[in-house]
Amino acid sequence: MSRPPLNIPALYAGFNAPAANFDCGLRCAPYNPRGIPFCCDICCAVPVAYTEEWEYLRPRTKLWHPWRGDECAAEPEDPSRLEADTPAHMRLLACLGPQACQREYRSITCRQFPFFPYITADDRFIGLAYHWDFEPTCWLISHLDTISPQFRNEFVQTYDQLLVDCPEDYDSYYYLSEEMRAAFIQARRRIPLLHRAGGFYLLSPRSGRLSLADPGKYRRFGPYRNEPAST
Ligand code: SF4
Ligand code: SF4
Repeated sequence: MSRPPLNIPALYAGFNAPAANFDCGLRCAPYNPRGIPFCCDICCAVPVAYTEEWEYLRPRTKLWHPWRGDECAAEPEDPSRLEADTPAHMRLLACLGPQACQREYRSITCRQFPFFPYITADDRFIGLAYHWDFEPTCWLISHLDTISPQFRNEFVQTYDQLLVDCPEDYDSYYYLSEEMRAAFIQARRRIPLLHRAGGFYLLSPRSGRLSLADPGKYRRFGPYRNEPAST
């Protein structure tokens, strides 16, 4: 690593607000056969953490351990498969699960879920987009109107810093944004975007044009299709 190490305590202190002002895990967990929030379910997602995060967390908490591949009993995996796709500055981890979660030791990826910094084709971090493969499972994605302004502000401030301090991250999110544009072009859809300056938009993945949107009217998915905007 040629850059200075990330300041993890400062990052955690500046990015602590929950995405919504209530426990959204209570909204999605009933739809997960394992009865826990989808984003905390190792069978649905293997968390990653910056190398510096793992070094910070390891002596302080037993919450995390390096991912072995056997944590999801139903579908054990060969760790080498995912390790090959994991950037060199990140580590694959597993936690003890939501019953044992320690909020102060949540990883940055826990804090940001289900969002990532959206970067335009001409290199601007303009707001928050979501991991679209979680559309059928994540309740929040179907209720973007519940995202707290404080969370949005902390997200933007954190990534304004991180994308400078960690150029590897900038590249990862640039390519993820590009992948999202390609997926949405193919699906003939516009991208729901929470703009960094406030407001909710739909973004044309082809032209980059932004149109103001009513967040209560964003599309909903999976079992949340028929729920009202905010419940
Ligand atoms: S962020 Fe989404 S998947 Fe995670 S607990 Fe909230 S609703 Fe569930
Ligand atoms: S550390 Fe907490 S928030 Fe993060 S995946 Fe584990 S249970 Fe979920």
